[in-house]
Amino acid sequence: MEIKKNDVFFTTIEDMSDDGAGIGKTDGYTWFIKDTVIGDVVEAAAMKMKKSYGYGRLIRVVEPSAARVEPACPVARQCGGCQLQAMSYEEQLRFKENKVFHNLTRIGKIENLRRVGDGPEEGRLGAGEESGDRGDQKGRYAEFLPIMGMEDPWRYRNKGQFPFGRDKDGRTVTGFFAGRTHKIIPQEDCLLGVEENREILGMIKGFMDQYHIEAYDEEVHKGLVRHALIRKGFYTGELMVCLVINGRNLPKAGKLVERLTEMEGMTSISYNINMEKTNVIMGKETVHIYGPGFITDQIGDVKYRISPQSFYQVNPAQTKKLYGTALEYAGLTGNEVVWDLYCGIGTISLFLAPKAKKVYGVEIVPQAIEDARENGRLNGFDNVEFFVGKAEEVLPEWYKKNGGQADVIVVDPPRKGCDEKCLETIVKMGPERVVYVSCDSATLARDLRYLCDRGYEVRKVRGCDMFGGTVHVESIVLLSKIHTK
Ligand code: SAH
Repeated sequence: MEIKKNDVFFTTIEDMSDDGAGIGKTDGYTWFIKDTVIGDVVEAAAMKMKKSYGYGRLIRVVEPSAARVEPACPVARQCGGCQLQAMSYEEQLRFKENKVFHNLTRIGKIENLRRVGDGPEEGRLGAGEESGDRGDQKGRYAEFLPIMGMEDPWRYRNKGQFPFGRDKDGRTVTGFFAGRTHKIIPQEDCLLGVEENREILGMIKGFMDQYHIEAYDEEVHKGLVRHALIRKGFYTGELMVCLVINGRNLPKAGKLVERLTEMEGMTSISYNINMEKTNVIMGKETVHIYGPGFITDQIGDVKYRISPQSFYQVNPAQTKKLYGTALEYAGLTGNEVVWDLYCGIGTISLFLAPKAKKVYGVEIVPQAIEDARENGRLNGFDNVEFFVGKAEEVLPEWYKKNGGQADVIVVDPPRKGCDEKCLETIVKMGPERVVYVSCDSATLARDLRYLCDRGYEVRKVRGCDMFGGTVHVESIVLLSKIHTK
């Protein structure tokens, strides 16, 4: 039976796409249907169709999957930020584990990957097989360990970025952009964020209303307040607010400070100038109007100073597990020279420093490197050194001047993964171990293939859930150099 646009059909969701849409079939034709969960029987309407697959819109769930839960957030579907909120947390973890496993085997062609630990998933080590020994000459099994899940998958984010605009009655609103649009859903209490967000946003709105300060309207590029960035140090309780404005001055800034400092923990208030027509949230310049210009937080034994523009992991509890795993995989004894590429404010560098001879960090954002250097001093480490620049430029230049000198290289690139020039230099430097921390398992898979074709083998892979409710998953991989006898 042929289905046309707007036709209604029934299907069972058999699989999930990487971006969290359910996958079902009708007569061999594949449908992607958002807001469904693996195991659901659904009624859907055809939206857009290509030759071999199409997109459907969920009309109703006819028979809910055993893994389906009631989304806790009233705007989960509209917002789209939490693609997996209708899925039980356990099922979310399974989804993420499978996503990493499939990307590494399909895109990365990492054929010797074997699951270890509990559970029935495909690819698990069979009876009589042992991890670490493949029983042939080709190499060894790479262990795929169970994902590290969160104890509580709510209110875990230490950072929120809230757009400002106006509703149809001209009132100032803030919340979240509805999925793939720039329409603001007025929701000030995202359940992934801290409870303080709501009160802070209320104060900012009150301030704007009282002093007639307008929200930015991106269609006409007018109005002042574009976004509010709010951060909380989970360990210290310190709060940071930075208003991103389309102007060089924030009128009545003192009045905003008066209001915000009523909140316990308020440590840093600033505004950031962004007068460009752009989707990029922050501009280059930040003006501090209260406090030292940063907040401080702590993960494990390491203290971190964080500026508004610096990258800092959003989920501190899971970050501790992630960095702990990076430290374990780095296998440090105290004699190693370590590189931490894409180091941000030196978070991983400083985690490794007590166990290494020397740690070099490389990061593109100058402000983050300033924080990194300060963080080195704050923690009393004199064996860390940081460079501002692109990893794919700094590392080759260093190599040209100084040669190898790397026992372990850690990389933690943004979603697009490592530049080939960077990987090429890593191979030339020939460290014993490479620890790859990744927030995108597809580009991770591509980069692992590159390294595995040039003398490295994957030894361990482990997912870490930093972003409950969403489709995103962090993974961490240990590669070691192959020594031929
Ligand atoms: N390891 C850090 C930061 C990881 S996020 C942590 O765990 O906190 C990735 C970082 O890479 C960001 O700080 C970003 O600014 C930086 N970055 C992006 N492209 C880069 C490049 N080409 N070279 C070096 N750093 C880069």
